[in-house]
Amino acid sequence: MTDQQLKLQYASLGISEPVFNYGESILETLKDRFALIDRTAEFNQMKVLKAMQESKVREACLTGTTGYGYNDIGRDTLEEVYARIFHTEDALVRPQITCGTHALALALMSNLRPGDELLSPVGKPYDTLEEVIGIRPSKGSLAEYGVTYAQVDLFEDGSFDYEGIRRAINERTKLVTIQRSKGYATRPTLSVERIGELITFIKGIKPDVICMVDNCYGEFVETIEPTDVGADMAVGSLIKNPGGGLAPIGGYIVGTKECVENAAYRLTSPGLGKEVGASLGILQSFYQGLFLAPTVTASALKGAIFAANIYEKLGFSVFPQADTPRHDIIQAVTFGKPESVIAFCQGIQAAAPVDSFVTPEPWDMPGYDAPVIMAAGAFVSGSSIELSADGPMKPPYTVYFQGGLTWPHAKFGILKSVQSLLAAGLITELS
Ligand SMILES: *Cc1c(COP(=O)(O)O)cnc(C)c1O
Repeated sequence: MTDQQLKLQYASLGISEPVFNYGESILETLKDRFALIDRTAEFNQMKVLKAMQESKVREACLTGTTGYGYNDIGRDTLEEVYARIFHTEDALVRPQITCGTHALALALMSNLRPGDELLSPVGKPYDTLEEVIGIRPSKGSLAEYGVTYAQVDLFEDGSFDYEGIRRAINERTKLVTIQRSKGYATRPTLSVERIGELITFIKGIKPDVICMVDNCYGEFVETIEPTDVGADMAVGSLIKNPGGGLAPIGGYIVGTKECVENAAYRLTSPGLGKEVGASLGILQSFYQGLFLAPTVTASALKGAIFAANIYEKLGFSVFPQADTPRHDIIQAVTFGKPESVIAFCQGIQAAAPVDSFVTPEPWDMPGYDAPVIMAAGAFVSGSSIELSADGPMKPPYTVYFQGGLTWPHAKFGILKSVQSLLAAGLITELS
C-alpha cells in the first residue's frame, strides 16, 4: 500500500489531505512515546495471561448459570483472576454492579456505618458521587444515613495539602476515597506512585483507616495498580478499561477480604454475599475483554496523546499537556466556546462504527449538574473505553475525549474532529 492509497482511503471517509498530513507530522514526533506504551501493554498482557493461567480458567468458566447462581465456577474463577491481577485478597466482579458509580456507591455504603466520616483528600470527587455522598442532597445518600463527609482540596499546583489532611483525619474518619483520574475536573490525574505516597501518609496517622481508590480510567495505564501501593480497595467500571470494550455491563471491587465481603453482603443480601448472583451468559465477554484490556487501553492512551499534541499545536489549552506522562486515558481540551465543544463531539460521532450519521446534542444527563454533550457511537451504549467524547456545557467549555478500541480508530476520530472544527470555521489554519 502506498501513502497515496492510504490518503485516498481517508479522503473517502472525509479527511482532507491537509488534515491527514497534519496528523502525520504530529505522529512523527510521537514514535518513542508510543513504543513505551506498547511496552507497558506487553507487560500488562503477561500479567493478565498469567492470572488466567494460574487460576486455571477453563472452557466451563465461559458458560453461565441462571437462577440463584450457586457454585458459578466461571464467576468465582473470574473473581480469582481479578484478585491475582490486582494482588488483593479478594474481588467482586459482577454484571449486577450496573456501572462505575454503582460500584463506588456499593464500596462506600457497605464499608461505612452511621456516625463514620468519609474523607476525600484529593478535592471534589466525580460528579455522580456528589449524590452518593450527599454533597448534593439525594435520596439514599450516605448523608441520609448519618455518614458525614470531609474534603481537603489539592493545592493549586496539584500537590497534596498534607497539613490539611492531617487536621481533617479524626476519630470518626473510617474511609478515605482517592480518585485516581481527574474526571471532569482540571487537576492532574494521580500516578499510582503518588497515590502510594498519600496512602502511606494517611496510614501513618491512622493505620486502620480504609483507603479506597476510584480506579476508573486508570487500569492498565501503568504496570502497577493502586492496590500494589497500599490501597485496601480499588473500584472501577467494566465499560471502561478492564472490560476491554467487550463487557456490556458491570463493575468490580478488588481489595481486602473484609472490604470485599462487606460489599458482597450489600450487593446481594446479608447472609448471601458472594454465593449468589447468576452470571447468565455474560462471562465470556468479561474474560475476553479483560484479556484484550491491556492493548485496548494502550490504543486509547495513544489516542489521548495524539489529541493532546494536535490540539496544543493548534493553540488550545490541553490537559494533560502534550508532553506530560499519562496516568489515565482522558484528554481534556479547553475550547472556551460551546460551539467548538459541539463541533468536536460531532466530529467524534461522525467517526463512529455505530450511529455515525446522528448528530449529538447537549442533554440533561442524570447525575450531572449541567447539560452534557456526548459523542458515543459505541457497540456498548455509553461505553467510554470506546472512542467517545463528552463535555459539560459550562465554562470553560472543555471537552473530555477518551477511548478507542484500536489505535487506527482513535486516530481517525481525532482527525475527524479537526475536520469538523475546520468545516465550522472554528479553526482556520493548520500550523
Ligand atoms: C466514569 C467514572 C465514574 C463513574 O462511572 P459510571 O460508570 O459512569 O457510573 C466515577 N469516577 C470516575 C473517575 C470516572 O471516570
